[in-house]
Amino acid sequence: MAVSSQPLRRARLTTDTTSIAPGPVRILAISDHVENLVYSQNIRERFSDVDLVLSCGDLPPNYLEYIVSSLNVPVIGVRGNHDHGRAFDAVPRGTLGPGTIDLHGQTVESHGLLIAGLEGSLDYNRGPHQYSEGAMRLQIARLLPQLLLNKLRHGRYLDILVTHAPPRGIHDQPDRCHQGFAALREFIERFRPRYHLHGHIHLYDRQTVTRTQFADTTVLNAYGHREMRVPILAEDAEVIAVAGR
Ligand SMILES: [Zn+2]
Repeated sequence: MAVSSQPLRRARLTTDTTSIAPGPVRILAISDHVENLVYSQNIRERFSDVDLVLSCGDLPPNYLEYIVSSLNVPVIGVRGNHDHGRAFDAVPRGTLGPGTIDLHGQTVESHGLLIAGLEGSLDYNRGPHQYSEGAMRLQIARLLPQLLLNKLRHGRYLDILVTHAPPRGIHDQPDRCHQGFAALREFIERFRPRYHLHGHIHLYDRQTVTRTQFADTTVLNAYGHREMRVPILAEDAEVIAVAGR
């Protein structure tokens, strides 16, 4: 599928669904760790079939810029709790790095998929991109008009939720910094995306659970990188390929 024929755009109200491609969409999800396999001269050969890159945060802007310039596909995502400081000073507003799109607080449509983003982690030291449960609920409230328009236009609120933090009780950890948001758990119960991609939880062994089915949503930890094939408009969508584990 030619990427240039499926430009990323904000979801808008219309009854026209004929532009939705048959899919599946080949997604490269990344988070938290610069992968040698991705940050490599062989990236084009290794990931030549990728349609879309989704970032769950805590990644340097030059890494994302390298992916954009190498693969020439949309790179969209959210910031993690570590995505601030000198390396981010020159990052264009509304982006995660040159050529990318900061998805926080909005929904976009790309390759026929409705994708929404929420940045940051639970507040643990008052740093940037940290939110209390109440503050995260406010961010979710900001998304509501776009989600409702998606429902009107497409019959569903969204296909993929992209966040940095996990939902409470799924892949999260007991310490305050790595505890998931109850607000995100409620979000996926209510709006039922097919997938929830998150990062923030680092993986140190292969036994760690990185995929959990919760209600209608497959919750996936994208730490490092993860390849997915997401059928469009298919209710039995399934991640066919999982790599990097
Ligand atoms: Zn993090």
